Amino acid sequence: MEYIATIGMEVHAEILTQTKMFCPCPNDLTAAGPNTHTCPVCLGMPGALPTINRTAVEATILTGMALNCSIAEFTKFDRKNYFYPDLAKGYQVSQYDLPLCSNGHLDVLVDGEPRRFGIRRVHLEEDTARLVHGNGVSLIDFNRSGVPLMEIVTEADLHSPEDAHAYLTKLRQILRYLGVSTGNMDEGAMRCEANISVSPKGSSVLGTRVEIKNINSFRSVRQAIAYEFERQVRVLEEGGRLQQVTMGWDENNLRTVFQRSKEGAEDYRYFPEPDLPPLTIDEHWFKSIQGRMPELPDARCARVTEQYGLRTADAELLTQDRLVADYYEDVVRVCDKKIAPQTVANWVLVELFRLLSETNTEIARCPVSPAALAELLGLLTAETINGTTAKEVLSEMFRSGKGAAEIVEARGLSQISDADALRTVVLQVLEQHSGPVQQYLAGKSQVMGFLVGQVMRQTRGKANVALVTDILRQALAERNQA
Ligand code: ZN
Ligand code: MN
Repeated sequence: MEYIATIGMEVHAEILTQTKMFCPCPNDLTAAGPNTHTCPVCLGMPGALPTINRTAVEATILTGMALNCSIAEFTKFDRKNYFYPDLAKGYQVSQYDLPLCSNGHLDVLVDGEPRRFGIRRVHLEEDTARLVHGNGVSLIDFNRSGVPLMEIVTEADLHSPEDAHAYLTKLRQILRYLGVSTGNMDEGAMRCEANISVSPKGSSVLGTRVEIKNINSFRSVRQAIAYEFERQVRVLEEGGRLQQVTMGWDENNLRTVFQRSKEGAEDYRYFPEPDLPPLTIDEHWFKSIQGRMPELPDARCARVTEQYGLRTADAELLTQDRLVADYYEDVVRVCDKKIAPQTVANWVLVELFRLLSETNTEIARCPVSPAALAELLGLLTAETINGTTAKEVLSEMFRSGKGAAEIVEARGLSQISDADALRTVVLQVLEQHSGPVQQYLAGKSQVMGFLVGQVMRQTRGKANVALVTDILRQALAERNQA
């Protein structure tokens, strides 16, 4: 029998804010030692009173807007009660029946096919503390306790590991464009869970849902869903029944493992958080958040393709990351209008990307500014330097932070475009390589490449290639007549 998987995704994303969700402690998980960013609120002391972080609310609403959601006019926080060592209060402040955002969708290409995945809700809650296990002890760090967290839940619209991968990739790209989360899965800033059930193809009844937690990378998402699909099909084929359970993804053994029987919403005893006022999002607030919406990745890719006449694949690469797109457009804006935007794209995508990846540098810390790259391309277009030299100069700009003109001047790299000087070198080369010259004259035209190479060598790569080729042709023609 053929089976089909039905999958829903839940993503938790830590929100980039100065302070935590309900207290003034810094939201900063990198710089500080454990348990240094704490106060009675985020330590869960009885009687400590929370206040709502406006920036986190706005980031969640902005995300909901980008995901085509309806934004609640009236919303509130709820207590989700459960016991776990990383949750000192015994409850998490979350949102239950009135999420900030609901009923949206996200359009994604999966293997070139357009797909629309429903977004059931986006709500706001607080992160738990972090448990660190090892050496026979478990330690707890409250720096993460109370960090603003948004939970983004899809409808059960996905059907394959590829769907899940494409959805997460697009979602993370949007979160980064909005600047609301780093989306870094390896740091736990974006965490994902998948609900998966299988049913015979064509059946309208869904199978029993199994939840997979602890999926910590894009690769694991694919593997975990594929594994769980196979497992469930096997159980059904053997005449067994699936239990509604929570499984964990075991990254070392590449399998899902049983964690606990799944609780339902009623087990959490949700009730409205009595220490926080409900929120009303009025027209004015709504509009001011809407006004902050940046151009989103798909729209930007389409515009960049159109406006600069780029190859689609290049526009996609350039707009994958908002900062790269900004960098590219800055170069185009300041550079000589004689330089084609596609040429700028080639330099960014090939040479600059190579230098960034070789040195493991993010574009935000790129030592070559857009204006500096524009200057280099200007020298190339003005034929002050040739392409080979330009690559060399860019490497040095990247290393030293110096300007292109400064490097060209200091190292005497200016292109030789003096026809008389080049003719002297050409004649020398023809003298030194009479064999190849004979071959050329006998009709072996590909020898030209070799001769040009010899001239470039003698000029230490600085000769104007087009001019050299012209002069060589002319000199060889003269020999032919002689
Ligand atoms: Zn605190
Ligand atoms: Mn949650």
